[in-house]
Amino acid sequence: ESVIVAIDGPSGTGKSSTSKAVASALGLSYLDTGAQYRAITWWMISNGIDVADPAAIAAVAGKPVIESGTDPAAPAITVDGLDASGPIRTQEVTSKVSAVSAVPEVRTVITDLQRSIASAAAQGIVVEGRDIGTTVLPDADLKIFLTASPEARAARRSGEIKGSDVAATREALIRRDAADSSRKTSPLAKADDAVEVDTTDLSLQQVIECVVTLVEE
Ligand code: C5P
Repeated sequence: ESVIVAIDGPSGTGKSSTSKAVASALGLSYLDTGAQYRAITWWMISNGIDVADPAAIAAVAGKPVIESGTDPAAPAITVDGLDASGPIRTQEVTSKVSAVSAVPEVRTVITDLQRSIASAAAQGIVVEGRDIGTTVLPDADLKIFLTASPEARAARRSGEIKGSDVAATREALIRRDAADSSRKTSPLAKADDAVEVDTTDLSLQQVIECVVTLVEE
């Protein structure tokens, strides 16, 4: 029997690490929806599209062919057949992804892709993002909303980025979450029926155990 788990929340809450580990532990597929928004942003930049121009983005939103692997042990993403896993993690993509993902035509294309990937996952899937429980998969079997203090989030994120300073990382995170939370189309939000888990004082292992327990209940 296939189970669908939606894990939403802002960046730096441990969403990706938790989602991959839960999927591996339960033998489920895994989908990183942020990687897809990063991939379309990378394509826009590579093709000279002005990310400050929503009409220009909307006009080509359907063009890039984005393919996501669903193995939690080796998440892969390609754009027009090119490996995008490195390029989507640059600071340039990170600083522009909120503007691109706010364009409704982009969300329609990516949301359709996410739904088809989820429905093809025979054993079930863990899908992580910002609007999975509210918009993409409102009928998910379990919805988790991860939170953490801004300090904890900035510390975790800057630990992942070599040579970064915590204060600058904190500012950038806060700016991106504010943009993601205030956009008109499917903003970052907790679904009414989501279980909120504050990860500030929890280890990654504790968060994973908590979510696995909730899936098994
Ligand atoms: O999770 P990650 O930090 O990789 O997400 C990158 C960006 O993709 C977010 O800041 C947000 O703008 C966008 N995103 C989104 N909806 C999702 C997942 C990510 O708009 N479901």
